[in-house]
Amino acid sequence: MTILSNYSLEDCNTFGIAAKAERFGIIQAEQDLFSLDFEDNIRVLGGGSNLLLPDSVEGLVLKNEIKGIEIVAEDDTSVLVEIGGGENWHEFVMWAVEHNYGGVENLSLIPGTVGAAPIQNIGAYGVELKDIFEGLNAYLFDEFGEEAFTPEDCRFGYRDSIFKRELKGKVCITRVYLRLQKAPHKVNVSYGAISKTLEERGISEPSIKDVSDAVIAIRQSKLPDPKEIGNSGSFFKNPEIPQAEFDALLQKFPNAPSYPLPNEMVKVPAGWLIDQCGFKGVRYGNTGCYKNQALVLVNYGGATGKEVYDFSEKVLQTVLEKFGIQLEREVNVW
Ligand SMILES: Cc1cc2nc3c(=O)[nH]c(=O)nc-3n(C[C@H](O)[C@H](O)[C@H](O)COP(=O)(O)OP(=O)(O)OC[C@H]3O[C@@H](n4cnc5c(N)ncnc54)[C@H](O)[C@@H]3O)c2cc1C
Repeated sequence: MTILSNYSLEDCNTFGIAAKAERFGIIQAEQDLFSLDFEDNIRVLGGGSNLLLPDSVEGLVLKNEIKGIEIVAEDDTSVLVEIGGGENWHEFVMWAVEHNYGGVENLSLIPGTVGAAPIQNIGAYGVELKDIFEGLNAYLFDEFGEEAFTPEDCRFGYRDSIFKRELKGKVCITRVYLRLQKAPHKVNVSYGAISKTLEERGISEPSIKDVSDAVIAIRQSKLPDPKEIGNSGSFFKNPEIPQAEFDALLQKFPNAPSYPLPNEMVKVPAGWLIDQCGFKGVRYGNTGCYKNQALVLVNYGGATGKEVYDFSEKVLQTVLEKFGIQLEREVNVW
């Protein structure tokens, strides 16, 4: 593997932060990891779509470009697919839809790589990665070897896994195994926006392609395209709070929206909380909140990672003061 010094990461992160890596290399196969010398400061980069970078990243940045999509087992109703961690997630979803394998169509158009998908258990429109996940292989930097992880090992939660906790920064996910369904499919159109779009299109019995097309159309109408304006999607997670705490909030804010969760908990849309603090569409220097969705922080051009981070801190503090709710960043801050 060739290692480059002082490498510009500007085109490697969807926020468009003009960061530089002290050293940078590309992994094209597991072998590249096995041949690494000891290094205690390694970071793995996928598509850079869930990252906030500092001006300068110390140590070695490894971009995952391990490719390959292969059916490794099948039965009457499903296929087990092995996917290289460096494959583009959306291109993999398109492969599945084209081959008429169901299960990932609701996750169309999520940026990034397959190898990063387990890190925060990506999810959208009523489906999460864990719903179709069978396992993964990861190289453990401390142990100089690869290990297989079961779904239980990964400890998936809402935008969460063991790879954001105990194993944060300690692994490179090389291969992911997903179980996809053969036709006839059971599509998930429980999200209002999907059923509405399908209805508008006069589709009453949607195929997985219809669902994927609807999701793509909804996402394109709502979310900013990083090619036009730098962003990392949702910057914060939707907070989950006890029902009793939410009932108290309703006394002061009767219009507060929520989604019920098990165990007397509710999820409150972080976008609504931020919007209520007056941040939607507001610009602070080179950064700010996107005009159509307050949850998305943007780089209007030339923003530094510190500028975006400081603004996110301001949002966190304001929401805490107004609602007593502590937001948590979804984006990985390096
Ligand atoms: C416009 C937009 C919309 C989005 N919508 C959604 C959405 O609907 N749902 C959702 O869940 N997310 C969404 N995201 C966030 C993002 O797409 C996902 O989190 C995605 O999985 C990130 O993949 P990546 O390859 O870009 O990861 P990166 O940003 O490169 O990395 C993210 C983190 O994972 C680590 N990492 C990356 N690859 C590996 C690997 N192979 N092994 C170990 N660690 C690794 C990195 O070190 C980093 O800490 C959106 C982002 C954008 C910009």
